[in-house]
Amino acid sequence: MRFEPDEKGPLGKLFAPVAGFGVTISSVFKPMVTEQYPFEKVPTQPRYHGRHQLNRYADGLEKCIGCELCAWACPADAIYVEAGNNTPDAQYSPGERYGRVYQINYLRCIFCGLCIEACPTRALTMTNEYELTSPERAELIYEKQDLLAPLQEGMLAAPHPMVAGVDDDYYYRGEVTAPTEEQVSWVREHRPDDPTLQGARARAGEGASR
Ligand code: SF4
Ligand code: SF4
Repeated sequence: MRFEPDEKGPLGKLFAPVAGFGVTISSVFKPMVTEQYPFEKVPTQPRYHGRHQLNRYADGLEKCIGCELCAWACPADAIYVEAGNNTPDAQYSPGERYGRVYQINYLRCIFCGLCIEACPTRALTMTNEYELTSPERAELIYEKQDLLAPLQEGMLAAPHPMVAGVDDDYYYRGEVTAPTEEQVSWVREHRPDDPTLQGARARAGEGASR
């Protein structure tokens, strides 16, 4: 059966020739909105998916353990991870392994967030930063140093040993809240000029509650 539209009433017939201008005419009376970007940036929604961030624990160790689950979860093949072994002289994250090489290719990323869902340690999250442009393609491949969260006040730069007497589960449960005296002493011995020593020393001792 062929579809036939309803017959127009008298008013419908009267305005039919100008009905197509309805949206245009109604817009004339609305206030104009001119975005002043990039001089005035409009805040994003709190859960906006922007640039990724590799997070740290409160003592400064990295959360990434180099497991590659984020890379496997990525539908755009935008993440490349190579793990390295932590050693007593170079402990970057709790446990045996850390992310030695970590790259995200923002020419491929579609900001779906599947990678952050896959991460078992909440090492990988997404910020609200959306200004990801460059005239050079190579500059849109972000390396680990571009993605690592900055050291907060009181954190001790990695590498340094884990909090003494605790295992990586303690870290995963968020029980480490600051560097300990032992960690500060280790860094003072191995990197006496480390600029994070001073702030970490002030907070040392609050590190782990058992
Ligand atoms: S946000 Fe999506 S596309 Fe981008 S790196 Fe993560 S999983 Fe891949
Ligand atoms: S960011 Fe998370 S999922 Fe990706 S390698 Fe590191 S720990 Fe594994």
